Amino acid sequence: MKTACIRILFLFFIPAWGYSQSSHPICGNDLFSAMLRKHYPALQDNVDATFESALHAGTPRNNEPMIVHVIVHVVWKEAAENLDESIILDQIRVLNEDFNRRNADTVNLRPVFQPEAGSPGIQFELADIIRVQTDVDFAVDILGTNLLPEVKHDALGGSDALDTEQYLNIWVCKIQPIEIFGIVVGQILGFAFPPNNLLNWPENSGAPAPDEDGVVIDYRVFGSNNPNPIENPDGSGNIIVKGRTPVHEVGHYFGLRHIWGDGGLLGPNDCAQSDGIDDTPYANAESAFDCDTTKNTCAQIEAHYGMDMPDLIENYMDYASEDCMNMFTRNQSTLMQNILLGPRSGLLTPFSGVSNLRDQIALRIVPNPSEGHFTVKLETINNTQGLVRILDAHGRVIMTRDRLTLFPGTHTLSFDERPLAPGMYFVEIRTTQGAMAEKMIVY
Ligand SMILES: [Zn+2]
Repeated sequence: MKTACIRILFLFFIPAWGYSQSSHPICGNDLFSAMLRKHYPALQDNVDATFESALHAGTPRNNEPMIVHVIVHVVWKEAAENLDESIILDQIRVLNEDFNRRNADTVNLRPVFQPEAGSPGIQFELADIIRVQTDVDFAVDILGTNLLPEVKHDALGGSDALDTEQYLNIWVCKIQPIEIFGIVVGQILGFAFPPNNLLNWPENSGAPAPDEDGVVIDYRVFGSNNPNPIENPDGSGNIIVKGRTPVHEVGHYFGLRHIWGDGGLLGPNDCAQSDGIDDTPYANAESAFDCDTTKNTCAQIEAHYGMDMPDLIENYMDYASEDCMNMFTRNQSTLMQNILLGPRSGLLTPFSGVSNLRDQIALRIVPNPSEGHFTVKLETINNTQGLVRILDAHGRVIMTRDRLTLFPGTHTLSFDERPLAPGMYFVEIRTTQGAMAEKMIVY
């Protein structure tokens, strides 16, 4: 197992040479994560734990389609930013191709990596497009704490998220260039929060709020048919846009890190930095929006391959040119599936019959969050029979109370026989009328 060095917030970033051709590109990822670590020191542990847990949960996939419903918020100021529906639909098409390895350019993957290519098997369905006209310039305060919350709130000139547990919210807007002390140092193309068990946090802890979970994308890199050019600040012309920035960011949203391990400006950028995924070869630096198949930044034997391997520039989680990207690896795919079945399981709306059962039974967990000692209170209005289960974030059954006969009234169930490790759980009730579940946090 590689050592995980997960970062908090991930950016797809154009390195800018700006005023000096010889200065090093600045990685916004490092600036952001350093800032977040400073303000939310415990967030790192939380993300690490989620990542490790999901990585080692095995491959739980069955043949059920894993369908994620997507809300696209178009928050626009100039008319060009108000993207046509055809562009949004095209982006959904690209996501579906790339997350199911149906993209036409899979043939471009070098033969040595062909056996390593995986298919996450995640489908995206556009649930709604919400358009909001704004007069706000969305600028990231890279030295402060501004994570563009404005774009995610009606009251701040953006668009309120729709239930971030059940929908992947994608905000599309113009992201202003990054300036430090008045000097433009780069351009963020997009960013996303990986799952971080936000519900683990006490209220008012200052962590990013659940209603800010999702993906933010610059309007010029959304869709492969986007008519709005975006220049590479290095002066080499417009970057190639194939809808892969959202693919990259949704990869982060499902827990993936950059394949070079996120070293950089504020930390070591070397071969010891790992993305925690065994089948992505070590790399000590990101690609520079190019397509260099000779790149081999870490000359060392890869345990997974038994030999030295070139950098996997075709991977969506690098910064190669978008027409050079064409694959996730198998282990990246497994991680994303586990994240979707675990911390992001709300997206799959796995519990059928929810609305019917909620009319008949009220399920409360007291207290929630808890330190592991809790009771489940059920209030029923009809006679019913069923069972109550405690499941972990991966759907494994931890404790069960079965053969329950529930008469109208209040019922209290205690679950004291096993201490629960800190994490997220589900308390599920199944009766002859259906099933429903509530989330429970143990800290
Ligand atoms: Zn990234």
